[in-house]
Amino acid sequence: MSSVFNPAQLTLPSGHFIGGRYVDAADSAAEIDVISPSTGQRIGGIPRAGAAMVDDAVCAARAALARSGWGGVAPRDRLKALHRWASLMEENAETLARLEAVSSSRPLADARVGDVLVTAEQIRFFAEFADKEGGNLVPVSDGHFGYIEDAPYGVVGAITPWNFPISMAGWKLGPALAAGNAVVIKPSEMTPYSTLYMAELSVQAGIPAGLINVVLGDGPVTGTAITGHPGIDKVSFTGSTRAGGAIMENIARTGIKPMTLELGGKSPMVVFADADIDLAAECLDRGITPNAGQFCVAGSRIIVAREIADELAEKLAERFKCYQPADTLAEKPGFSPIISETQLSRIDSIVKASVDQGAHILCGGARFEREGSYYQPTLIGGVDESNPAVREEIFGPVATFQTFETEEEAMALARHATYGLCAGLFTRDLSRALRLTRQLEAGTVWVNRYGRSRDHILPTGGWKASGMGKDLGREAYRANRRTKSVLIDL
Ligand code: NAD
Repeated sequence: MSSVFNPAQLTLPSGHFIGGRYVDAADSAAEIDVISPSTGQRIGGIPRAGAAMVDDAVCAARAALARSGWGGVAPRDRLKALHRWASLMEENAETLARLEAVSSSRPLADARVGDVLVTAEQIRFFAEFADKEGGNLVPVSDGHFGYIEDAPYGVVGAITPWNFPISMAGWKLGPALAAGNAVVIKPSEMTPYSTLYMAELSVQAGIPAGLINVVLGDGPVTGTAITGHPGIDKVSFTGSTRAGGAIMENIARTGIKPMTLELGGKSPMVVFADADIDLAAECLDRGITPNAGQFCVAGSRIIVAREIADELAEKLAERFKCYQPADTLAEKPGFSPIISETQLSRIDSIVKASVDQGAHILCGGARFEREGSYYQPTLIGGVDESNPAVREEIFGPVATFQTFETEEEAMALARHATYGLCAGLFTRDLSRALRLTRQLEAGTVWVNRYGRSRDHILPTGGWKASGMGKDLGREAYRANRRTKSVLIDL
């Protein structure tokens, strides 16, 4: 199949990708504009799939499963096809990275490596489960024996956010396909292009056409049609806690099905007086400035021992003031834009509301005056737990700064949020680190570091309002298969 993409000119596709080809948007309502956050200019438009188009995609997925026998083929065939897909992603890294950077907040250089190459690595990681997991347990007891059969779900409905479109698509598609499922995926309406190209490459790699179907559109229309479709056997969602709640409601209303929900966060980073203060400053900076703070695991609540608070705030403010914004397509990466003007206004209004309630700005607190939607890295002090900047997921380069006197006070502040995605601890005291790690209510805890490295085996996912289920790790593969217990009387 010939590519609609021209890497040199970056021709942007504008159709759904169903059954291995681009299709007309017959049932789609008015086009949705795609805007570059770096310039504020419209760069394209996409259709909004309605129920009929989603139904076409589900039918294409079911037909592809039946035709190819993907769920049953020798697992080694799935493994090989996924490795070929990963290789094609690596070979086409430049095009994929440009398609990512053109509409998202991801700087080109980060997209090439952190998104494309790491995602290809993750697809290889999941491919390896295809012929190594599962297998039947055969417990024998009096007069009967039993075994556990495990099988793919069938068609997984995946919905992804705009902040890391390639990575999020990889986190959904890799384990679902390795486990023998077909997928109907909806990328964010703001960043649709890289997911379309990943699907196109999958067909070139020999993954049967129809196993990955991409439907374009927004949440309320297209997303709702996916989560409520009776032919979708499982929903895998990453996005806001608000949308996760709407999805739960829709699933409850339209028929129960399993779901994985990776939702928002408001992660505390707790720094004790015995910490390596320069290391802590570097990690706190890395916890809120990449992608302009638009990542779920942002360390947006900094909680610091009072005796080192001034020094740490100063070090952090110095770092924040060095950032210079740049277009995401620029060769030299700079500070990322905020995805939309609407999101930038939301960030600014939370910062202003925070100040109205007694907070003070330690640095930043305003947009960068240039074209596009850029907001300065911002540090807010003088806040308590009732302040909106402490309570709400801001999803921007804004961190609050709170202080504590005792360990108990630190833990009470850390545990305050309704979210439970991640948490960080900075201390040289190993026994304190181990003790407090147990007390933190979070799906991931980092000690004297911030963020993942290429540790794909560690599952990621939240506690509390940050969701249910896991991406990455063995858990993500298993979450794409279901088991059946069989008992036979002898
Ligand atoms: P969002 O919830 O607005 O949208 C996410 C996706 O869901 C989009 O594709 C959107 O079109 C769709 N959607 C929206 N409403 C829907 C509905 N009612 N039914 C079905 N689909 C719907 O989130 P966003 O603004 O794109 O992304 C930012 C959010 O995602 C943040 O809250 C962030 O923390 C979260 N996130 C979480 C993780 C994680 O691993 N936990 C990773 C990345 C982003």
